[in-house]
Amino acid sequence: MPQVIATVSELRTALASRRSARIGMVPTMGALHAGHLSLVDSAKKHAGTVVVSIFVNPTQFAPHEDFDAYPRTLEADLEKLAGRADFVFAPGPREMYPEGHATSIAVGGPAQGLESDFRPHFFAGVATVVAKLLIAASPDIAVFGEKDYQQLLVVKRLVRDLGLPVEVIGVPTLRESDGLAMSSRNAYLSAEERRVAGRLNAILKDAISLARAGGDLRAAEAAGVEALWAAGFDHVDYVAIRDAQSLDHIVSLERPARILAAVKIGKTRLIDNMAV
Ligand code: AMP
Repeated sequence: MPQVIATVSELRTALASRRSARIGMVPTMGALHAGHLSLVDSAKKHAGTVVVSIFVNPTQFAPHEDFDAYPRTLEADLEKLAGRADFVFAPGPREMYPEGHATSIAVGGPAQGLESDFRPHFFAGVATVVAKLLIAASPDIAVFGEKDYQQLLVVKRLVRDLGLPVEVIGVPTLRESDGLAMSSRNAYLSAEERRVAGRLNAILKDAISLARAGGDLRAAEAAGVEALWAAGFDHVDYVAIRDAQSLDHIVSLERPARILAAVKIGKTRLIDNMAV
């Protein structure tokens, strides 16, 4: 089992004797699944010591979102990390946000639009907690999933702009057999909702085919939105084909592009994305 550490000072002490080899960090909110474990295994390939953080970060949830309901499964998570991670950093909320905490990091660039249009608080919360985790552990590498593609770009920009001495590595999305991206939030889905959720990835693939064939990216996005409503999703927040590096709006596929989508089924919000 990995050693569980709850405070920043203990984390720094534990890592101090390990700095002769590289240290890899994988920030998570727990409720670990195979997607998370592929990040951990990727960290192990690049580093001698691996720290997984498990912290359900309150500042990235709005009051109406699922902070209280978010699955917390620390014992099962530790078992999954046995033989994979050396340390689990699992701080309480007061360790990360001491009384009177008043600092927040605002990120522009890739943080603008898409998720920010629907979760305006989200990336400031993510950027602040990721910066705090990276400062606490001071890893050589930090591993994030392409599952949260906009977040990956935001973290890369944060690290570059603040000059944090860490290399950010992105790992491809792990999927269930029907294509549904693995997510801790999939646990919220009823059997019927789970069946509908499995359509999201196929519909994005169809939209990619349309975009490639016809070249009209707005028409391909609109077809994706329509197919999602028809498949039984309760709301479509967005389907967007954007520049894969900047997330800027594009009108043609001359440069690498990415399709990104967010939908709701019942109370559950799901996101997915793929290379176009
Ligand atoms: P979370 O616990 O949801 O905050 O996710 C922690 C990290 O795992 C983030 O970098 C996510 O992008 C990544 N992740 C989540 N789901 C997957 C997946 N299905 N495949 C690969 N990485 C994932």
